[in-house]
Amino acid sequence: MVQGEKIPSIIGNPIKCLGKWYDETLCDRTNISRIEQQVSEGMRNIDKTGLPGKFKAWIYQHGLLPRIAWPLLLYEITVTTVEKLERTINKHLRKWLGVPPSFTSIGLYSRTSKLQLPFTSLVEEYKVGKARLVMTLKDSKDEKVRAAGVEVKTGRKWSASKAVTEAESRLRHKDIVGTVAEGRQGLGTSKSCYWNKANAQERRNLVQREIKCTEEENRQTKLVELGSQGAWSRWDTEQRSITWSDIWKYPQFQLQFLLRSVYDVLPTPTNLHKWKLTETPDCPLCGARGTLQHILSSCAIALSQGRYTWRHNNVLRELADVIEKQRREVRIQKKKPTQIQFVKEGETTRVNILSNNTKSGILDQAKDWQLEVDLDRKLRFPEVVPTNLRPDMVLWSTAMKKIVIIELTVPWEERCGEANERKRAKYDELMAECRGKGWQTWSFPVEVGCRGFPAQSVWRLFSALGVTGRCRRTAAQRMGQAAEQSSCWIWMKRNTSSWKPTNDAQ
Ligand SMILES: [Zn+2]
Repeated sequence: MVQGEKIPSIIGNPIKCLGKWYDETLCDRTNISRIEQQVSEGMRNIDKTGLPGKFKAWIYQHGLLPRIAWPLLLYEITVTTVEKLERTINKHLRKWLGVPPSFTSIGLYSRTSKLQLPFTSLVEEYKVGKARLVMTLKDSKDEKVRAAGVEVKTGRKWSASKAVTEAESRLRHKDIVGTVAEGRQGLGTSKSCYWNKANAQERRNLVQREIKCTEEENRQTKLVELGSQGAWSRWDTEQRSITWSDIWKYPQFQLQFLLRSVYDVLPTPTNLHKWKLTETPDCPLCGARGTLQHILSSCAIALSQGRYTWRHNNVLRELADVIEKQRREVRIQKKKPTQIQFVKEGETTRVNILSNNTKSGILDQAKDWQLEVDLDRKLRFPEVVPTNLRPDMVLWSTAMKKIVIIELTVPWEERCGEANERKRAKYDELMAECRGKGWQTWSFPVEVGCRGFPAQSVWRLFSALGVTGRCRRTAAQRMGQAAEQSSCWIWMKRNTSSWKPTNDAQ
């Protein structure tokens, strides 16, 4: 009793202190089951909203996830429990995205896969949070906190303090060997931060990033065991990252098509047969084995009906449009009267020379570029040498004796490299003949994978022509989109024996 008022007992009256609940057991078991309940009820409530799937996924990522991430940090919860929570979440995310339960969780969270989605893994959030906690306690300004030896408990499967120690030693090692450039990243593109020069805050960030990297490495290790769902690791194409704003623009069925085609979990005849839902794994058009690759890129009947040519031309149209705009731009620029440069006494006109060199691509090397595209009407090869070959696109300057040919292929992603070599060889002789007549030549075989993934050759083409930055990015994106939309249409018509080339799919 305090001043006649009874102090409530902790039994039956849990106390909240610094955001954390304490009950009579003084341990976290009750709270953990409360979190579990929060997750399963939260997901179920979102599911009940009746909104389209992608909205549900958004509500999870921005509404529920931040709310459960905090208590995970606060309570002594094991990694095994968090993994269980994540499985519940994945089950719903798959349903909302319209992918089958067999769809790998790596596809949902990977940041190095060919297709990145904007979701955060709960397990990863948890691990990063716990590691941050370890570092905060260890580096605390308060000596008592440092000496208290508070242990961040995370269960037997994964230890936060061990993960931090490992991350630290990896970071120290990186100081010695230097930063290794990743992927297409050039030297000096990423700001490297050295462990031994970093302050406490920077070190915390470095360790957290390192832990995220370790998680991604674990995902990649699992990927090796995946078989057909991991086939994309062999693609010679650029990564695509799907942002929320992309998701809003996507029609639901097309997003489904993209996700399911990348991980080969579409109901193709072979998959249906594998799932024991149909008698035969045959293509309804030609009777060959109906794999996704067959339907999207190698069915003889579909080919003879012009389905693939139609898709090829849709992508080519996008490419031609970009290049035609660039060609005109070059001419307009060149027509502008050159500004008079006033040079101060003692200075030279160096500035002028520099500004002319900033954007130097093939297109800047002539003023009279002409463009022929093999669309709608038959391409006529310029009168340099006689030939029967018809590349998809020819760009030439008679005045400067320069000629560029572009040949586009829309193959199965894994075959981009092969297509590139084949097409290059096809035009080798023609190019040599042009050079024999004193022309400077370029030959660009480019590929856009049929599921909408432009190969590196596309980026190289644009750079060489002098199309850079945002312009290049949008151009590659547009070509990818055209391929993906057309393939989606080809997919939908897989059982229809007649084919009418329409542009309805766009
Ligand atoms: Zn077929």
